[in-house]
Amino acid sequence: MQEAHSPAPPPASTPAPTPVLVRMRAEDNVAIVGNDGGLPAGTALPGGLVLRERVPQAHKVALVDIPEGGAVTRYGVTIGHALRALTAGSWVHERLLRMPPARDLKDLPLATAPRPAMVPLDGHTFQGYRNPDGSVGTRNLLAVTTTVQCVAGVLDVAVERIRRDLLPKYPHVDGVVALEHAYGCGVAIDAPEAVIPIRTVRHLARNPNFGGEVMVLSLGCEKLQPERLLPPGSLPLRVETVHAAPASTPGTALPILSTPAPDSAPFPATEPADAAWSHVRLQDEHHVGFASMIDDILATAETHLKRLNTRRRETVPASELVLGVQCGGSDAFSGVTANPAVGVCADLLVRAGATVMFSETTEVRDAVETLTARCASPEVAQKMVAEMAWYDAYLARGEVDRSANTTPGNKAGGLSNIVEKAMGSVVKSGSMPIAAVLSPGERAATRGLIYAATPASDFICGTLQLAAGMNLHVFTTGRGTPYGLAECPVVKVATRSDLARRWHDLMDLNAGAVADGDCSVEVMGWRLFHLLLDVASGRRTWAEQHRLHNALVLFNPAPVT
Ligand code: CA
Repeated sequence: MQEAHSPAPPPASTPAPTPVLVRMRAEDNVAIVGNDGGLPAGTALPGGLVLRERVPQAHKVALVDIPEGGAVTRYGVTIGHALRALTAGSWVHERLLRMPPARDLKDLPLATAPRPAMVPLDGHTFQGYRNPDGSVGTRNLLAVTTTVQCVAGVLDVAVERIRRDLLPKYPHVDGVVALEHAYGCGVAIDAPEAVIPIRTVRHLARNPNFGGEVMVLSLGCEKLQPERLLPPGSLPLRVETVHAAPASTPGTALPILSTPAPDSAPFPATEPADAAWSHVRLQDEHHVGFASMIDDILATAETHLKRLNTRRRETVPASELVLGVQCGGSDAFSGVTANPAVGVCADLLVRAGATVMFSETTEVRDAVETLTARCASPEVAQKMVAEMAWYDAYLARGEVDRSANTTPGNKAGGLSNIVEKAMGSVVKSGSMPIAAVLSPGERAATRGLIYAATPASDFICGTLQLAAGMNLHVFTTGRGTPYGLAECPVVKVATRSDLARRWHDLMDLNAGAVADGDCSVEVMGWRLFHLLLDVASGRRTWAEQHRLHNALVLFNPAPVT
């Protein structure tokens, strides 16, 4: 990245700010305006160019004359072709560009990129909760898995009661989370693509921040029966002793758990005894009235809370982090300040042996050639191609393409189209080889840099990253969004100092300092690295302090009925 700061002081008679232009690559023929509030017509730019019109902050300026049809180049790639001749010093916005077609998925380079030197980064630790299955949580939460939306109202009431009446008795538990969703019934549950929402709910239940405890709340008549959601072998099991026969006893066993004696023997005997689960079904005959349902849920929850309350943080290596990175409410600074800093941090974490997931298929589609080249093996690259092809077909089925991604806010923030947005988005992935590719809802089984294929929708991406095993989340934003998740800490990084100032108690880190010239991308990446270790150890993010929790949203490409 090249940053140019004019050394010339403004004339004494005018308060004009020192113009700041940011050009990403030497070969780029546009650069973006860094100054808060933009720059007025007539501003003398570094290098002698004079602005021909007012250009808003984060928007592009033509550095040379670009002929009609000529390529407009940023990040060293063609982000569009000029619809008319663009004079040097003029504002280049989305209405002046024609988007190039998407790269064909044939003949992509597969695992051909030279491997960067990966010097191990040792000695960094955090304070985490070690789980029975070996994973590590950054929070100690009780999660209640739901099989269907019908139970959500009852669960909401029960969760309020758990917060009020039970949590004060269990001070080492960080909170209770209802894993609510719109799936479970009224859906074509045997459709091939139903596998995506079903495995997402299954894997959400196993997120490392839930301590290996699985509590299921079902209705009874829904399509997503517990044995379909959690078939034998899908969870490491420990039989839960609360499942007793008398109707007055809370909790009923899942069908697959009904055969063994209600003692503490592992079931099945060959499975590791490292998770505990329980099940409450609202339509069970022993529920007489609403209050008995609530009492049953509370009593079952308490058995889990007792165990969770015995857990303590311990020193674990940074390699136990499973970081999900995402952006939302992006502007042209996202790809200049925050996302490159996330990329530096991603490289540090991968060098420390951690897992880093990047996602958002429509926002990496235009960089597919560099990504398939970076894959660790041809097989991983083939899976990357398959995920991109699946998503192309999914969008085509809805008669749109990747250009459906950009929002009015993106464009107001200077991002002309998805190509420009993608080039700025994919830098979050850093430079390490891509060790694995996950289909939506799959759970990560390898360390290192992982591409978890998800839509770019903030909530769907976050939900799928949670299912993949994310225990810490980084979210960059330029326009500003108060995004947060109840299941996992979300560290929000502002791309601009103006946003960081206005949203001072919502943004956890200001990467705008990079554009202000106060800090290099590398230093910002290290700052984020240390902040992540602090947050993983229990330091609360702004979203946690304000209890900002967005809903989980499942990705269901299958039909509803
Ligand atoms: Ca997003």
